[in-house]
Amino acid sequence: MSSYWMPFTANRQFLAHPRILVGAEGMYFTKADGTKVLDGTSGLWCVNAGHGRKEIAKAVGDQIAALDYAPAFQMGHPGVFELAAKLTAILPGDLDHAFFVNSGSEAVESALKIALAYHQARGEGARRRFIGRERGYHGADFAGTAVGGIGNNRKGFGDLGIPVDHLIGIYDPALAFTRGEPNQGADRADDLERLIALHGANTIAAVIVEPFAGSAGVLVSPKGYLARLREICDRHGILLIFDEVITGFGRIGASFAAARFGVIPDMITLAKGLTNGTVPMGAVGVRSGIYKTMMSTDAPEGAVELPHGYTYSGHPVACAAALAALDIFEREDLFARAGKMESVLEDAVHSLRGLPHIVDIRNIGMAAAIELEPRETRPNARAFDAYLKCFERGLLIRVTGETIALSPPLIVTSDELGAMIKTLSSVLKDLD
Ligand code: PLP
Repeated sequence: MSSYWMPFTANRQFLAHPRILVGAEGMYFTKADGTKVLDGTSGLWCVNAGHGRKEIAKAVGDQIAALDYAPAFQMGHPGVFELAAKLTAILPGDLDHAFFVNSGSEAVESALKIALAYHQARGEGARRRFIGRERGYHGADFAGTAVGGIGNNRKGFGDLGIPVDHLIGIYDPALAFTRGEPNQGADRADDLERLIALHGANTIAAVIVEPFAGSAGVLVSPKGYLARLREICDRHGILLIFDEVITGFGRIGASFAAARFGVIPDMITLAKGLTNGTVPMGAVGVRSGIYKTMMSTDAPEGAVELPHGYTYSGHPVACAAALAALDIFEREDLFARAGKMESVLEDAVHSLRGLPHIVDIRNIGMAAAIELEPRETRPNARAFDAYLKCFERGLLIRVTGETIALSPPLIVTSDELGAMIKTLSSVLKDLD
C-alpha cells in the first residue's frame, strides 16, 4: 500500500491501521467490512447535499457520453456558460463573473494572480504584497501556503518567495464557549492599518481571509470584523478576497458568508460544495469592475487579456456535476435548511460542555468545533485519538491540532445530530 503517498495524512500510522471506505449513500459511508460510518464532516466539507445523489451521477454519465472534453482555451461548450450564469446569479452584489479552476487551492492562486494583473492594468504594478491572517488556510499551493497562517503547514517549506504578511488572528480564548459570532473583537481588523503603515498601502495588492476559519477549527469572525476590513481596504485601494471554499454553498446557513454578513468582497474563492464533492472543480467569483478593467485593454482584440488558466478549467463533466448540484441545492432549499438547523447543531454541540478535556466549543452555520486541552506529553494526540475512536464507533469527525470539527451534510436530521453527539460524548468520556 505504501506506493500511495497520502496527502495531509500520518502515512505510517495509516499503513499500520488502514481506514478504507468503499461506498457512500445519504449521510453514511460504508467501510470495507460493510459497517456504516455517519458522516459528521461532509467528507472534507464538500458533500453538502449528502452522498450518492443520483441526479449528479446521471448528469455526469450523460455528459461524458455527449461531450467528454472540450479545450478550455479559445473555445467553449454550453455547460460552462450556463454554469457561470447560474453561479453568478447566486453570488451576492456585483460578483458577476466566474473564472473556473479545479480546486480550492487553484481558486486561491488564480484570485491572487488576478489581483496582481488587475493592479498592473491600472498602472499600480507596485502592489505585489498579499495579506493573510494568522491561522488562515488557503490551500496547499505556493501562494496559498504563503498567505496561509497555520505554522505546521508553512514552516517545513522555508521561504516560499512570495511577499506576504499576516493579520493577527481572530481567536480570543477569553471568549470560549461563545455561541455563533463573538460580540467583541471587530477591532482586530484594525491590525490591517498596522500592516499598511509598515509596508505602505501602495505595495499591497490584496487581503485574503476566510469569513470563518475552517481548517484551523471553526474560528468565527467577530461581529462587524468583515465590514471593518472592507472599509479599510476601500480606503487604501486594496482588494478584499473572501476564501469561501468551506463557507460557501450553504455551510454558513446562507448561500455564502458574503451574503449572510452583507459584506461584498472583490473576489470570492469557491470549490468543494460546488459539485457536491463529486468532481474536482473550483471557481473565482469576480466583481464587474475588475473584469471590466481587464477587458478594457488597448491590446489588439486577438490578445489574451489574462494569460492564466488550466487544461481542465470549466471541464464539461465538472460543469455537469456542478449544474446538477446547484439544482439540488435550489430544489431542496438546502441553504435555508442549513440556516434553520443552525440552532439545532448549536444546542447539540454546546450540550457537550462540562465533559472531560473540553476547553472551548464554537459554532456558526452548519459547522462546529470542540477544542480539547492538549496532553502535556504529546500535543495534538488527544484529538487524533478521539478521531480514531469515533471512526471505530461509526462516526467520521475531522481533527486539526486539538480541535474536533463537525460539519455534517446540510440534509442532516436532528436525530442524526443527536447520534453524533452521543458517540462523541462516549468517546470523550473514554479518552485519557
Ligand atoms: N481554501 C480554504 C478556505 C479551504 O478550506 C481549502 C481546503 O480545505 C482550500 C482553500 C483548498 O482547497 P483544495 O483542497 O480543494 O485545494
